[in-house]
Amino acid sequence: MASPTVENLVIIGSGPAGYTAAIYAGRANLKPIVFEGYQMGGLPGGQLMTTTEVENFPGFPDGITGPQLMDRMKAQAVRWGAELYTEDVVSVDLSQRPFTARSRERALLTHSIVIATGATAKRLELPSEEKFWNQGISACAICDGASPIFKGVELVVIGAGDTAAEEVVYLTKYGSHVHLLVRRDQMRASKAMQDRVLHNPKITVHWHTESVDGNCSRYWW
Ligand SMILES: Cc1cc2nc3c(=O)[nH]c(=O)nc-3n(C[C@H](O)[C@H](O)[C@H](O)COP(=O)(O)OP(=O)(O)OC[C@H]3O[C@@H](n4cnc5c(N)ncnc54)[C@H](O)[C@@H]3O)c2cc1C
Repeated sequence: MASPTVENLVIIGSGPAGYTAAIYAGRANLKPIVFEGYQMGGLPGGQLMTTTEVENFPGFPDGITGPQLMDRMKAQAVRWGAELYTEDVVSVDLSQRPFTARSRERALLTHSIVIATGATAKRLELPSEEKFWNQGISACAICDGASPIFKGVELVVIGAGDTAAEEVVYLTKYGSHVHLLVRRDQMRASKAMQDRVLHNPKITVHWHTESVDGNCSRYWW
């Protein structure tokens, strides 16, 4: 009986990390298999699929949209021989070699696995958060900002890093005014992003402000 095929490398995830691994592995003639994901862990293409301009990626002096950048990474991975499956991996067996990676559609034996499944939103776990999640509370302005519930009303963003800075600026397109709640007396965001926040007349930054609860007329990060 013929022995089953054992892949060199299975990559789980199709964000920048997954496609980068696929490009390098492809160039090393490893013929990588990429499980792009489907819905369990976010979109195929990863978090950048939900953003507009990416301004810090080298080689794009005029910026590039997140989806365009991810399309290019995908095309580069395919060009170097990566085989893609738009499926979620539901389990891996690392207890014996070769390893096994399973989606609902297939089970692959493989000598190695790269897990590049990225990150998910960090929730604040406030008392009303679960009740109003997706009904006024969201973790993605780009995904949800244009919804009628957020148009023309005052919005709140919680956070002080690059993500919060990008979200608060983006939401000025939709909200009548956007408040940024910052726990300390300074932001962690890059200087360029901070400048955009601090010089925008539609944004008020509230320093030394910690959120304890909220209701559905507010927008959270
Ligand atoms: C709104 C927003 C704007 C951003 N803007 C910028 C920016 O301008 N510049 C910048 O440098 N960074 C930016 N970032 C951060 C950047 O998106 C992340 O750092 C980057 O996407 C992380 O890449 P990753 O490959 O590690 O993970 P992710 O992009 O999170 O990708 C994870 C991948 O894993 C897949 N996956 C998860 N679970 C499974 C599973 N069980 N089976 C198969 N696949 C699975 C998902 O489908 C996805 O393809 C932004 C992030 C957000 C949310």
